[in-house]
Amino acid sequence: MLIKLKTTKNEEIVDITNQINEAVKDIKEGSVLVFVKHTTAAVTINENDDPKICDDFFNFMNKLIPNGNWGHDKSGRCDRNNGDAHLKSSLIGHSKLIPVENGKLALGKWQSLWFCEFDGPREREIIIQKNAL
Ligand code: ZN
Repeated sequence: MLIKLKTTKNEEIVDITNQINEAVKDIKEGSVLVFVKHTTAAVTINENDDPKICDDFFNFMNKLIPNGNWGHDKSGRCDRNNGDAHLKSSLIGHSKLIPVENGKLALGKWQSLWFCEFDGPREREIIIQKNAL
């Protein structure tokens, strides 16, 4: 199953928990693999109650991996100056395997599934692979 989403900012967290919950509601027990098909985006799990956590996430990532001056930015192979976005994408990772119980993601109270955009705005694709036991 493929989910498409359109990001609206250069860096953005899109909470995809509800979309994935919708996709797994026919699974009593099993798991779901969520896979981001891009080299400048990622998926992770974190809290989406306090928006300051998203700010902290990007502030931290930009301190760790600042924009500009990477080999990819100077190689002439990409016109988006997005060497940092490629590194952030690899660091966070492209997939999550999440348990499903009674038609819902078995997430903790404060856990949400975050799609991480590091080089938007863009149209993005996420593969969802459902595994029922
Ligand atoms: Zn690039």
